[in-house]
Amino acid sequence: MIKFDNVSKTYAGGHQALRQVNMHLQPGEMAFLTGHSGAGKSTMLKLISLMERPTAGHVFINGHDLNRIKPGQVPYVRRDIGMIFQDHRLLMDKTVFDNVALPLLIEGYSIQEARKRVQAALDKVGLLSKERHYPVMLSGGEQQRVGIARAVVTKPPLLLADEPTGNLDPKLSMDIIRLFEEFNAVGVSVLIATHDLGLIARLRYRTLTLKEGTMVDDGLQEPVV
Ligand code: ADP
Ligand code: ADP
Repeated sequence: MIKFDNVSKTYAGGHQALRQVNMHLQPGEMAFLTGHSGAGKSTMLKLISLMERPTAGHVFINGHDLNRIKPGQVPYVRRDIGMIFQDHRLLMDKTVFDNVALPLLIEGYSIQEARKRVQAALDKVGLLSKERHYPVMLSGGEQQRVGIARAVVTKPPLLLADEPTGNLDPKLSMDIIRLFEEFNAVGVSVLIATHDLGLIARLRYRTLTLKEGTMVDDGLQEPVV
C-alpha cells in the first residue's frame, strides 16, 4: 500500500526532517507511527499525501512512484487517501452534514447520491442525529468523529491520521481508535501518527518508531531480549 525507499526530506532552511527512511505498509494493515515531537511523523504523512515532496528517495502508493506524479494528477492520488488531523479542520460556518458532504461535492457527486453517502458515514461514526448541528455545538470527541466521517465518505482505501487523539482524554481516544479498527476490519489501511505511548501500549498494533528523522524501529523485527 505504502512504501518508502530511502526517503530523505530536508526542508528549505536546511532542517533534515527524514533520513533515508525505509518502510512498507501492506494493504489492509493498521499501524502506529510514533516518536517524539519533531521526529518526522507529520513529514512522512505529508509525503504520502503529496503535500510535500522528498529531497531524495521514493515514496510509492500501490506501486505508483509519487515522484512521477505530475501536479495535475495530485488530486486523483489524494482521492485514495482520507486524512484526519488533530485539530480536525472542520469548517465552523458549515453544518456537520455540509462538512462531510464537501469532498463528495468537489468530486461531482449529485446531491442525492451525496446525501446517501454522508448519512451512511455519519451513521458509522454515530452522529447521524447531529447532521444539522454546527461543529461548535459538538464536544471535542464528536468533532473528531465528524472529521473521520469526512475522511471516509469517499471510501478511500487508505486513512492517514495525524495525532487524531491529541486533544482527547483516554476514553475518547480509545473510542476513536475503535472507529479506525472498524474501518480497518473492512479492508481500509490505516496509519496513525501519535506520540501517545499509553494509547499504543494498550493495543497490539505494529508500531513504527522515528527518532530525529531516522526510522529506528519498523515494528516488524522481534525485540532483542
Ligand atoms: P513530528 O510530526 O514528528 O512532530 P514533523 O514532521 O512535523 O515532526 O517535523 C520534523 C522536523 O521538521 C521538525 O524539526 C520540524 O521543525 C521540521 N519541519 C517541519 N515542517 C517544516 C517546514 N515546513 N519547514 C521547515 N522545517 C519544518
Ligand atoms: P464533552 O464534555 O465530552 O467535551 P460537551 O460537554 O462539550 O462534551 O458536550 C456534551 C454534549 O452537549 C454534546 O453532545 C454536544 O453536542 C452538546 N453541546 C455542547 N455544547 C453545546 C451548545 N453550545 N449547543 C448545543 N449543544 C451543545
